[in-house]
Amino acid sequence: MRHDHLITSKQLSRADIETVLDRAAEIAADPDAVAQRHAGTLLGLLFFEPSTRTKMSFETAMKRLGGDVVDMGSVESSSVTKGETLADTVRVIEGYADALVLRHPKQGAATMACEYVDVPLLNAGDGAGHHPTQTLLDLYTIRENAGLEDLTIGIMGDLKYGRTVHSLSYALANFEARQHFISPESLQLPREVVFDLHQHGGAQIREHESLDEVLGDLDVLYVTRIQRERFPDENEYQTVAGEYQIDAETMVDANDDLTVMHPLPRVDEIAPDLDETDHAAYFEQAHNGVPVRMALLDLFLSGDRNE
Ligand code: ASP
Repeated sequence: MRHDHLITSKQLSRADIETVLDRAAEIAADPDAVAQRHAGTLLGLLFFEPSTRTKMSFETAMKRLGGDVVDMGSVESSSVTKGETLADTVRVIEGYADALVLRHPKQGAATMACEYVDVPLLNAGDGAGHHPTQTLLDLYTIRENAGLEDLTIGIMGDLKYGRTVHSLSYALANFEARQHFISPESLQLPREVVFDLHQHGGAQIREHESLDEVLGDLDVLYVTRIQRERFPDENEYQTVAGEYQIDAETMVDANDDLTVMHPLPRVDEIAPDLDETDHAAYFEQAHNGVPVRMALLDLFLSGDRNE
């Protein structure tokens, strides 16, 4: 990997992705081998937006590599409330830590912030933009369950504001996956993402309003939450809330080995009765965040990325 920072999945080649996934698989198979590999290393956590899985799995990953974290804490308890700019905050915290993880409500925040720091900066979600570390754990989960070759995937829900969707679709183009996007018209994939995917030789994409049109063809169904916090108008959210829900009954028309994924948190898109079926992979997906983020930290902190 020849990257100083991880900002979007667009920057990742197929070889980069395979490097991370292979390293994550090695780490998952023998975590003890890396338990002290980054002893003394400090990871700075800057979360300007709520997070459970991403923040805790980065913290777990750093500690399982022998390091520790320094956490800015909540926005309310930080100097951000005094009007400090993001550029100043990252410049200060890079003096305390060996790498930074940034989540921010503004699209493009990570692109801007990485201009100000020399340590590796990993984008943990920038508004409705990108979430590349989520993509890597999604790809790891797909590879384990369905394989990345000759893949047919349905990506359903809030494709407009869902940053995990944008990142995943770019990365899947490297594998020439057949991507079916399922959403109401108002939450379709942003046109610039569609344009980029068409520009990328490998992307095969189709858009649908109904899951029924494609369910039987899918190897993986990736369900997403309607991103309520990103809607400019609550009424607009209410018109689409509750659409595209699935449950165990939905699986009657699916392939027996369909893998259902979700970046979580879910609201009501996947009924709990699906959790008990062999289709459900979303908790496994969340757990895969640890070896995948261990692999990423290892690659960015070791200097191996420049080899
Ligand atoms: N946890 C994911 C994210 O931060 C998905 C979501 O919030 O719906 O984008």
